[in-house]
Amino acid sequence: MIPYGKQEIIQADIDAVVEVLKSDFLTQGPMVPKFEQAVADHVGANHAIAVNSATSALHIACMALGLGQGDWLWTTPVTFVASANCGLYCGAQVDFVDIDPQTYNLCPKALKAKLEQAEKENRLPKVVVAVHLCGQPCNMEAIAALSREYGFKVVEDASHAIGGKYQGEFIGNSRYSDITVFSFHPVKIVTTAEGGMAVTNDDQLAEKLNLLRSHGITRDPALMTREPDGPWYYQQVDLGYNYRMTELQAALGVSQMQRLDDFVARRHELARRYDQLLADLPLTLPWQHPDSYSGLHLYVIRLQLENVTLSHREVFEALREQGIGVNLHYIPVHTQPYYEQMGFKDNDFPQSMAYYCEAISIPMFHGLTDQQQDRVVSVLKEILGKAT
Ligand SMILES: *Cc1c(COP(=O)(O)O)cnc(C)c1O
Repeated sequence: MIPYGKQEIIQADIDAVVEVLKSDFLTQGPMVPKFEQAVADHVGANHAIAVNSATSALHIACMALGLGQGDWLWTTPVTFVASANCGLYCGAQVDFVDIDPQTYNLCPKALKAKLEQAEKENRLPKVVVAVHLCGQPCNMEAIAALSREYGFKVVEDASHAIGGKYQGEFIGNSRYSDITVFSFHPVKIVTTAEGGMAVTNDDQLAEKLNLLRSHGITRDPALMTREPDGPWYYQQVDLGYNYRMTELQAALGVSQMQRLDDFVARRHELARRYDQLLADLPLTLPWQHPDSYSGLHLYVIRLQLENVTLSHREVFEALREQGIGVNLHYIPVHTQPYYEQMGFKDNDFPQSMAYYCEAISIPMFHGLTDQQQDRVVSVLKEILGKAT
């Protein structure tokens, strides 16, 4: 089976992890700060806070921004459930904004319309999570303008997008947001096995994130409410979690970060080949905004069902039967049973549902060879050729 995504591990990565195993610190040593610095430097952010997953990063990002009971978090339905669940963790309520049919990202026009309505009903969101689906950045300039007008905070869920650029600058410099979150799950662009990071330019948010990832405990006298009793002293000044990243993970991350530009460049090469090789099929290929350089975590094709006799599901199953490990990103979150019970109906977000009925993620990862890619293309041609 050719998977849709796969980590790229070389000997240098293995050596880096083994080195940590032989060292004094398996956790809370020098590698985590080193990894944080590598990411902050690369994306151009003032602060980076490493945690054990992007889910944890989203949770403490929302907490640091003060999201709580009685508040609303808005995001796109076409994302992994974690982009929405972080609101529920904080006791807030979650709502969604439909996608743009061309970029598949949260649509700024739909956002504006929903904000106008919400203002009248006095239920404006406190936080909007903008997800850069497949690695293509959202229209951040428009979202940031609306955030100033309506007073909400912006979190970029850049789990798909490390190494990508928006308006010529790396995603994560947080020019248009308060906090940006990355994921280092093995299918993502850079991996630490499990892992995530929150980056921000705001000193106070960074301090808060740092506290929340480790029990709300500080050893910094400046953050304490009274004089330390002695050198052993620490204070718990907030209620946090154990969301820390290990040294093993951070060492893998440092090693991987050195090849980030390469990772993204190869993904672009593969995307260009797909663009050419699939051009004549009854498919809508990913559209790239000229303002953006996608991280290209995923390559999503949409079936032009009016020109295909097979159903979406039949095409998907035929691909799997032929050893192509396709996937679907994502089942719209508002249709998940847990969200359905909050009152969401499938057709509340019609563009997201239309996308869901046609989308298939085909293999896209650094180690995918041209030959493997040719096989994906020929299988697709065979299935769709028969079906058109
Ligand atoms: C993978 C992913 C997450 C969660 O990442 P973890 O590191 O597995 O917690 C969140 N949002 C999006 C968009 C993702 O793709």
